Amino acid sequence: MSDVRQHADDIHEQFSDHLDDVSVEDVEERLTTLVDEYKVPIDEARRSVTNHYLEEAGLEREDISSGDSEKANVEDVDKPEEWIDLTAKVIELWDPRSDSVAQVGLLGDPTGTIKFTKWAKSDLPALEEGGVYELRNVVTDEYQGRYSVKLNSTTVIEELDDDLEVGNDTSEIEGALVDMQSGSGLIKRCPEEDCTRVLQNGRCNEHGEGEGEFDLRIKAVVDDGIDAHEVIFDKDATEDLTGLSLEEAKDMAMDALDTTVVADEIRDDIVGTYYRIEGPTFGRYVLADDVEELDGPADAEELLIKARSM
Ligand SMILES: [Zn+2]
Repeated sequence: MSDVRQHADDIHEQFSDHLDDVSVEDVEERLTTLVDEYKVPIDEARRSVTNHYLEEAGLEREDISSGDSEKANVEDVDKPEEWIDLTAKVIELWDPRSDSVAQVGLLGDPTGTIKFTKWAKSDLPALEEGGVYELRNVVTDEYQGRYSVKLNSTTVIEELDDDLEVGNDTSEIEGALVDMQSGSGLIKRCPEEDCTRVLQNGRCNEHGEGEGEFDLRIKAVVDDGIDAHEVIFDKDATEDLTGLSLEEAKDMAMDALDTTVVADEIRDDIVGTYYRIEGPTFGRYVLADDVEELDGPADAEELLIKARSM
């Protein structure tokens, strides 16, 4: 079989469910015209012909299978529009922000984690948090340097019985800490076993009213000049960063009869400061593991103005 014929076969196969009156010969003729008459490289010709049939069928690229998806690990994803098969665990589900999205969340395998989106119109079974799945025929995507996978109408989902260990992606960010989010400072967590939810006005979402246990935490936004990253500092990281211990923070709050003094003190200390932060990513957060304070960029003034305007 000629090269062009093979490509024509592949394309025809992709559209077999969508375009009834297209023959392999039609596809081959289009490819041949581009390759022989217009001297278009075969890859480009294939893309062009595929786009033609997508338009004719009123489909998006995600709607058709490439027919040659390859088994891949999360860490392998480094290009958009690749068709792959993943075995992954659903680490968390987020609330979709659009009606066109049925589910959105984070998948993980031993090599790392990646965002996924499942389209509403693809009519696939629901994925559950903690479930391990074989996902065949998902397509990769990229937005501002970050990769994700899309589950589409050609995706085949199979739930597996085994558990899967999920590896960490480590991130390193260097930039100015431009904002500290609410829920930072001296917080209280639900004391129930296996529940570490932060109490809101003395209530746990799951267990209701409770005494709570004090903890220190910072949710910060660090701007590396390109992107804003959300960074979480746990108690140890917060103590290291601020020099303020949990005991001292509790004393401060006790004296002021107000826990918000702790957050105010911390904010004054860290907002506008330049850091190098390293740690695993979890969902959209980077967990600060290793933090180094830097002298600041050449344009510290500009960053401070930016910080104040947020
Ligand atoms: Zn609770």
